[in-house]
Amino acid sequence: MATEQPPVKRNRTDAAENEPHKSPSRSEVWYPDGNIVPLAQTTLFKVHKSILSDNSEILRDMFTLSQPTEESDIEGCPVVTLFDSALQVEHMLKALYNRRDQPQPGAATYALARIAHKYKIDHLFEDAIHRLRLRFPSTLSSFLDMPAIISDFDEFSCLETLLLARELDVPSLLPVAYLKISAHEEFPGILWGRFRLSDASVGTFPEADIKACALGRERLVRNQANICFSWLQGACRVQSCRDYRTKWFIRLWQPMPRFLAFLTWEDGQWEDALCSTCRNVAKEKFISGQQKLWELLPSYYNLPPWETLAEAAS
Ligand SMILES: [Zn+2]
Repeated sequence: MATEQPPVKRNRTDAAENEPHKSPSRSEVWYPDGNIVPLAQTTLFKVHKSILSDNSEILRDMFTLSQPTEESDIEGCPVVTLFDSALQVEHMLKALYNRRDQPQPGAATYALARIAHKYKIDHLFEDAIHRLRLRFPSTLSSFLDMPAIISDFDEFSCLETLLLARELDVPSLLPVAYLKISAHEEFPGILWGRFRLSDASVGTFPEADIKACALGRERLVRNQANICFSWLQGACRVQSCRDYRTKWFIRLWQPMPRFLAFLTWEDGQWEDALCSTCRNVAKEKFISGQQKLWELLPSYYNLPPWETLAEAAS
């Protein structure tokens, strides 16, 4: 992949790291008939070696190679230390034992994607990435059809997605993560926040992402005028039709440029005051313009075309 790799800005603030001598506590993931006790940070889990081994060759090898001592036994089961956050391990174990409970909400999806990638649990990884693709799709139709409940902007998920897409090499998630940030009405102020991430660290937007969003925003608003809203400047004999288009042209650009190109035509409610001759032409120009803008979207953030991004993810 040719995508730029900005440094991940994270400040570890995990409570467990600040309390190295804290006694381990038992997780609610504790099966009395389990036969192995993973320890992550200061949390113990009691599960079944065969279930973990069947799902992950890496865990299977780890169990085979570890040499438990009597001192590390709990209830006669060997304790195996995992160098992951307790939260990540809990999400992984719950997902392995309760697969019908999918999908997991927000932060759990990112944690699960990371730990499933690490231990090569392909089906959990694919499930998590599938849920992220619903929020950060790579086709215009999926983007326009996104239910409001998952299209709502939140900076946390955009930042997490940018970080995860690069860490785990799923670059097709990047364009919509950038789009959601750079098309936001409160841009650029939203970029200066500090966010609690799914691994309990605190993150800020990397400088390279801030630059990409700033450049992308400029390109988006310029190109939407030329590509999606060219119909606003067309000639027409009907005075009310011309006035209406002038009004929308001003609304698009003043007092600050707004990005409206990925509303649906119906949601934009632009056609009511157009004359019948202009209405169809305008709609056709807008919809074909949307498709063109979508195809160009990755380039606005200096990313390769959609096809290349998709290949990298496969
Ligand atoms: Zn007209």
